[in-house]
Amino acid sequence: MPTATLDPAPASRDGHRPPPREAPYYRPAGREVDVFARCHARGLPVMLKGPTGCGKTRFVEYMAHTLGRPLVTVACHDDLAASDLTGRWLIRGGETVWVDGPLTAAARQGAICYLDEVVEARQDTIAVVHPLADDRRILPIDKTGEIVHAAPGFQLVVSYNPGYQHAIKDLKPSTRQRFVTLDFDYPPAALEAEIVAHESGLDRARASSLVALAHRVRHLRDQGLAEVPGTRLLVATARLMAEGIDAEEACRVALAGPLTDDPDLLSAIADLAAATL
Ligand code: ADP
Repeated sequence: MPTATLDPAPASRDGHRPPPREAPYYRPAGREVDVFARCHARGLPVMLKGPTGCGKTRFVEYMAHTLGRPLVTVACHDDLAASDLTGRWLIRGGETVWVDGPLTAAARQGAICYLDEVVEARQDTIAVVHPLADDRRILPIDKTGEIVHAAPGFQLVVSYNPGYQHAIKDLKPSTRQRFVTLDFDYPPAALEAEIVAHESGLDRARASSLVALAHRVRHLRDQGLAEVPGTRLLVATARLMAEGIDAEEACRVALAGPLTDDPDLLSAIADLAAATL
């Protein structure tokens, strides 16, 4: 079954959740809010492209709130079947009933449907969204024979991490070319420090040193560090520091540990932490 990302409001089983009452905290880095709003007005599907932990999910949550649309989130994985998106027949109380999947529910309700890490899903699963992602805005459901017409306000949004280790996995041009693409990256240093401080409660000076450390660790990519720290890891590290955990210890467990098992890279990160924090 698809899983939904964390959000203050409880999700129902199909991943649908009402918009949160307060606007999620999101600090734009460019014109993404305006461009997205215009795509929404025209019903254009959007692809958020960028590394993990750089604010794509938070951005969709913010936009759903700003536009007053419900948000349905599906975390994609390679076991995700088309029926996990469209729905399936279930036996309930001796009767066979049709239960909409998250994509069908979103299309009926005019929700924003966010397929997180879409490249993780198999091509035959992704192909299900094609008729919803062009002018037709329909979802044919083979198992019932129904053709669902997407309600006004429905919008398809996918996220995609091009740097991920997917030599074999890539999106087909027939999928990619249906989406307007918004590029995301780690926010500029001052903005990232502001975000880390806001999200963790750590003081601004220490949040800035943590961001300076992240910049140095991101350079270790050239020395074989496959995954570099995103803003999410910095927030987690900063939260431990705000709890009173020593900075170098916090970096070891919340920043270096989640990135690598390589002893040389771990000690390189520890050295950078000792020199920067
Ligand atoms: P992604 O979906 O790109 O993997 P997220 O949206 O989950 O990443 O971002 C990870 C965390 O980083 C968020 O929970 C939030 O705390 C913080 N974050 C990153 N970018 C921003 C931003 N521009 N504004 C506010 N918070 C941000």
